[in-house]
Amino acid sequence: AMAEAAMAAQVPPDEDGDECLPQYRHLLCPDLLAGQVAFITGGGSGIGFRIAEIFMRHGCRTVIASRNLQRVSEASKKLVAATGQQCLPLSMDVRQPQTIVAAVDEALKEFKRIDILINGAAGNFLCPASALSFNAFKTVIDIDTMGTFNTSKVLFEKYFRDHGGVIVNITATLSYRGQALQVHAGAAKAAIDAMTRHLAVEWGPNKIRVNSLAPGPISGTEGFRRLGGKWAESSNQFSVIPLQRAGNKTEIAHSALYLASPLSSYVTGTTLVVDGGSWLTSPNSFSALLDVWAAGANQ
Ligand code: NAP
Repeated sequence: AMAEAAMAAQVPPDEDGDECLPQYRHLLCPDLLAGQVAFITGGGSGIGFRIAEIFMRHGCRTVIASRNLQRVSEASKKLVAATGQQCLPLSMDVRQPQTIVAAVDEALKEFKRIDILINGAAGNFLCPASALSFNAFKTVIDIDTMGTFNTSKVLFEKYFRDHGGVIVNITATLSYRGQALQVHAGAAKAAIDAMTRHLAVEWGPNKIRVNSLAPGPISGTEGFRRLGGKWAESSNQFSVIPLQRAGNKTEIAHSALYLASPLSSYVTGTTLVVDGGSWLTSPNSFSALLDVWAAGANQ
């Protein structure tokens, strides 16, 4: 029984940078997503990149879309080389609906279908509310919250309304306890979790499932670097997490795979928290994070 319990908490390998995994052992059927197409915003880096890789390793073709065309183009080359699947890199800004429309048109022209939407594009940084400009708060709401709505609506109108589909919104646990120096991202992601429930209700009859995936601290990501991950690591903060460590990108991608696949066919309108229990026990220390911010660790 002990051996089985240890297996269930076994950490899958990961790579720190935006590189594909040198080896991958399938835990699920390699053709789980065969024939499907996933549209992944923010798919050129971090968590979104690993989601694209793991989906492709399960037979999925992908579209990876963000502002920086060079970033998604380079990512696409790596993904195709590692998995042998097709990956279409596209430039778009989730704040500009007409650029989303153009990207989705391009994707449908190429693949004739889109089955899965991953809303991963976001921006975040540490900042106390007192030092946050009006514009900084608005920018995070624009990218995270508005961007998720804009992209979901375009996919609905262009394809999901008539064919069904599945949407996975990448959110966060920041608002659960009012995480210090995170009012902007916490409010933006909480609004997305609300949107998940509203859209699950309205679009369920169209055979569209909508769920959120809320990661905890995930190593090898921009979020980790910017939000005090290094400080948390060096000051031993992760030892208080029930699973006593940060998560990795492969673990988030595996949970996204569950939510995007027929394994979760009756799951909609909910948030899957993938954080090793972190939000329950991690410190939410205003003064310690103010020091991290003041030291410029988030620059
Ligand atoms: P990341 O690598 O910085 O990913 C963010 C992506 O969003 C980038 O690829 C960026 O590409 C894209 N993006 C930003 N603004 C955009 C815009 N206006 N239009 C289109 N694309 C845009 O960060 P990450 O840490 O992997 O985070 C990925 C997701 O996980 C985010 O939703 C984040 O909030 C969430 N999350 C992360 C953690 C963590 O520990 N890392 C924890 C909780 C939640 P361009 O610059 O090319 O546009």
